[in-house]
Amino acid sequence: MKAIGVEIGGGHIAAAVIDTGTGAVDGFESAAHAGKDVGAIVEVLGRMVAARGEMRVGIGLAAQLARDASGDVSVRVAPSLGWRDFAFDAAVAARIGRKPRTVNDLSAVAFGEWRFGAGRGTVGPFYCVYIGSGIGSALIVDGAVYDGASGVAGELGHTKVKPGGEPCGCGQRGCLEAYVGGLALARLSQGKTASQIEAAAGRGESWAVPIWGAVCRELPIALANVVAILNPATLCVGGGVIDHTERLFDTCAAGVRAFAPSVATASLAIAKSELGARAGVIGAACLAASK
Ligand SMILES: [Zn+2]
Repeated sequence: MKAIGVEIGGGHIAAAVIDTGTGAVDGFESAAHAGKDVGAIVEVLGRMVAARGEMRVGIGLAAQLARDASGDVSVRVAPSLGWRDFAFDAAVAARIGRKPRTVNDLSAVAFGEWRFGAGRGTVGPFYCVYIGSGIGSALIVDGAVYDGASGVAGELGHTKVKPGGEPCGCGQRGCLEAYVGGLALARLSQGKTASQIEAAAGRGESWAVPIWGAVCRELPIALANVVAILNPATLCVGGGVIDHTERLFDTCAAGVRAFAPSVATASLAIAKSELGARAGVIGAACLAASK
């Protein structure tokens, strides 16, 4: 079956037609948006969908979501988009003339990686973490997204590493994301990227050593704790902070093997994400096709 996959992140909207049997991507299009104006983004989404035909539509949205009794999804809060308490599915259905399947963006990414990327062939739970501007994560169990009692299971970025520590975009303090996410790293370093901080720390520059030291200490421990709790078959790690640094993925893999129970790591595959910017649209389309 072919389906349309859409991904809406904090600064971009992307769409493509996906062959959900093979993962083939046709007509991938990505456009920048300014966020905030939900009507303008729904309009761009409507144009992208209309250009691709009458197929099921799956949407990965960078937001915490709630589902009502009829199955319609609304946004509770989307910090990177500036949205709160918005009836998203109803607005999209009014624009495109059919009901979409809307999931959290990392649920779509994880499902895409599980079907056609780093997780293909995985037998057993698949846990996917992306370290980009923030930290997103999702769990696939028995071929479906496991999202917990309230739809927000697996939010590794907002587990705490230091009570009362650095402020986080979620409104709390001391979250992992506030030490490891790309936006937090830029704030802590007055505008540097993860790769610049890693390189400066490697040269022993005093401003960078504690910032990068915290990343290399806290992220592997957090991932090891995930492995200890969930005993996944595959742990997939990706996102810009991983992709644009030289040694962080290897540091994470070594830390997981050192800190997680050996019975959990003996059969664990630790993999880098493979689908890049297309993971979200692939996963969203596959979820739409599977409902
Ligand atoms: Zn937080």
